[in-house]
Formats: sequence, structure tokens, C-alpha cells
Amino acid sequence: MKLSRRDFLKLCGASAAMLGVGATVAPPALAPKNLAAPVAPRDVRATLIDTTKCIGCKACQSACKVANGLPTNDRPVALSATTLTIVDLRNISTKPNQPEIKPVKKQCMHCEDPACVSVCPVGALVKQADGRVTYDADVCIGCRYCMVACPFGVPKYDWASANPKVNKCGQSCLANGKRDKPACVSACPQQALTFGAREELLAMAHARIRENPGKYINHVYGEKEIGGTTMLYLGGTSFEALGFRVDLPEIALPKLTWEAQTKVPAAFFGMMGLLSGIAWWTHRTERKESNEKP
Ligand code: SF4
Ligand code: SF4
Ligand code: SF4
Repeated sequence: MKLSRRDFLKLCGASAAMLGVGATVAPPALAPKNLAAPVAPRDVRATLIDTTKCIGCKACQSACKVANGLPTNDRPVALSATTLTIVDLRNISTKPNQPEIKPVKKQCMHCEDPACVSVCPVGALVKQADGRVTYDADVCIGCRYCMVACPFGVPKYDWASANPKVNKCGQSCLANGKRDKPACVSACPQQALTFGAREELLAMAHARIRENPGKYINHVYGEKEIGGTTMLYLGGTSFEALGFRVDLPEIALPKLTWEAQTKVPAAFFGMMGLLSGIAWWTHRTERKESNEKP
């Protein structure tokens, strides 16, 4: 097959058109509709979880199930579509055959810039102005993009359902002003959970660390991880031992993916241009040879 200059220009035009389509059908990470307008930091509500105070009673776990109308007759060991908060029992012992169990409440981290929201193509997950990352099962189409995107593995698929959706804590227990604090926070008998303005909770957490340097490690988990979360943790041992990811960047994942995505068209165009150029040059040589034949 021979490629004329006109064909080459057509090929470049087709490549540009493809790029145009690629730019029009924006990947989910570019969809801004799920993101609430930015608010002043003090308007963001958060929960401080002081793991050193937790006794593992699981009252928070049960209260969550009741508040969300989920089955209470199971014995969950992990988050699921019917268990939106779990008391994770971690063995933090460093000595063999001498287990030391530390209970740690876990649920959606209600990220400040949530990856799940950025990939949801239908707006079932929404970052609210007060910090909550809400979930609407009526809107969810069960595509599971959020499960892939969440760095904490929080959204879970309801495999048992005939019409499966994902589920996660959306702080629906606070919806429509039902409560002034989450059901799990109210249920805790140890005051291990504190609900309030994120900035004030961060100040409280750092004050506890300052005043009790032997009790806490000097790190508030969620203050900076992936751009910050509204679930903040204090710990008396490393967060890795408590089962948290410690390899996360401080920049929000949607920002990382956006930066990568902005480079894709250029890389793609460069590759298409390079391939087109190689094709044109190769076939130009063929054409020249052909024209030279008597
Ligand atoms: S905030 Fe509400 S929905 Fe979320 S874990 Fe607590 S009780 Fe459950
Ligand atoms: S923890 Fe996961 S599901 Fe929760 S807001 Fe962050 S990205 Fe979304
Ligand atoms: S209710 Fe409080 S003390 Fe009990 S498991 Fe939950 S966080 Fe821990």
C-alpha cells in the first residue's frame, strides 16, 4: 500500500479527530459534578478515633448496623455491604506466641478529595461540603469503579443481592438532621470517638500527643494521607501494625490521576505522530522507488 502526502495528512487528521473524541469523552476522574463547592476548613466535620482508648466492645459496629437497618445477627470480621464499620482486631505483638490484640474501628475515611467520587460515572458518590462522602444506592449502577479507586478498600459489593450494588459508610446516620453526631460516635462508652470540626480535632489530637509523648506515636493518621481525610486516628503503636496503609502519598489521588491524564493526550499524540511519520516516510520511500521504475 502506498501513502501519498495527502494520505499522510488525512491520517494526521484522523489521529487528531481520535484525540478530539478522547478529550470529549472525559474519563470519570475529570467529572466535577460529584464534588461539592470548596468550604472553609472549619466547616468540615470529622471524627477523631483514639485507638488507645478503644476496648473493642463493638458498640460502634452494632450501632451502625441498627442506624442503617442492616442485619445484626452476623459476626463480621471485615467490612462488607452489610457491615459499614468494623472493629478490626490486630495482633500488634512483636513477641512470638504472645499475642497482643488491639481493636481498631475502621470504616470509610471520608477523604477530603475522594478517589471514589472522582471515578463514579453517575454521581452516586458525592463529596458534601461538610466533609461527608455520601452514597446513593438508587443512583449506583454497580460498575465497581469506586472499589478499584479507593486506596483503603472500603466500598464493598453486595454479592448476595439479585441487583448488586456497592455499599460503604456514607454517614447516612446523620442524614436529614437525624442526629447531631454519628451513631457510632454516640455509642462509644470510652469516648474513643470524637466528632467535630476537623481543624479543632486536629488541634486536639496534636495536644494529646504533645501532652502524652509516651502514650502516642507522633502522627495523626489522616491529617495528610492522600490529601487528608475526615476520619483521623491517634495510635499508640505504628499505624502499619494497626493495619493502615503507610505507603500513601500526601497528594490526593484524583490530583495525581489528573496530572497523569493531562499528559496522556500529548503522549498519545506524540506516539500517533511518530507512527504516522514512520508510516509516511516508509511508504514515501516505496513510492519513490516505484516512480523510479521504468
Ligand atoms: S458514621 Fe454512621 S454510617 Fe458511618 S460508621 Fe458511623 S454509624 Fe455507621
Ligand atoms: S475511603 Fe475510599 S470510599 Fe471512603 S471516601 Fe475515601 S476513596 Fe471514597
Ligand atoms: S464503641 Fe468505642 S470502645 Fe467500643 S469498639 Fe467502638 S471505638 Fe472501641
